[in-house]
Amino acid sequence: MPEGPEIRRAADALAAAIVGEPLVTVWFHDRALKKYERVLRGRRIESIEPRGKALLTHFDYGLTLYTHNQLYGVWRVAKAGTRPRTRRSLRIVLETSENAILLYSATDIAIWKTDDIGSHPFLARIGPDVLDPAFDVAAAKARLVDRRFARRNLGALLLDQEFLAGLGNYLRVEILWQAKLAPERRPADLDARERTRLAEAILDVPVRSYRMRTNSRAKALQKTAFRFRAYHRAGKPCERCGSAIVRATVASRPFHFCPLCQKTPDAAMKRALRPARS
Ligand SMILES: [Zn+2]
Repeated sequence: MPEGPEIRRAADALAAAIVGEPLVTVWFHDRALKKYERVLRGRRIESIEPRGKALLTHFDYGLTLYTHNQLYGVWRVAKAGTRPRTRRSLRIVLETSENAILLYSATDIAIWKTDDIGSHPFLARIGPDVLDPAFDVAAAKARLVDRRFARRNLGALLLDQEFLAGLGNYLRVEILWQAKLAPERRPADLDARERTRLAEAILDVPVRSYRMRTNSRAKALQKTAFRFRAYHRAGKPCERCGSAIVRATVASRPFHFCPLCQKTPDAAMKRALRPARS
């Protein structure tokens, strides 16, 4: 599954092809959306914004197209008037005189008033997107002390889109390595320093991953460049302490960590080993 940085880069590529130019073709497969074709023709797309795994295409007409690709949907960019050769079923065409963006196979599609889009059931349920420019360390800390999340194990919590949208497995592994925290820890048990470290890592790791892969080599040479410190590095030395990175399974997904830097405190270990209360 793609994670926040990959989804945002895909959105950037769609936006680069289409934002700001008048739409000459607007086509929806979905019968219920046909009425918007004429309304949106001649209008422009202002921005394309990921929210978790959903994509919001904002038109200059106070309307927003919501799409969620689930497992099978895929967006493509094509030159105006051309269509990729594919057996997938076409769902949406948004085309300027230069380029087209095309959505295939997705079925989770809706058009809302831009002002109301936050009430969409999926968007209302998920947490803030970690790559949203408005999301900051204070917001991450507030999320960590929220009653809904404070007593959950970090290993599972960081994968829960209701906690924060845009995190997946590699980001979870790298955030906990950077914050020097074991996956059995819970936000409620962290001291102030640990909580700050975690909130900063939640901000920092996805942003570095997004930036690095966006601007390739120049960025890769910088000291702050993103690379995996723990993810898929089992047996290799931890860059902080030299201990061998260990592979485990946490919340049913592969997990990699440094057994020394991310040591599990005894209390957390006892709790983790205790049979779950029903
Ligand atoms: Zn270490």
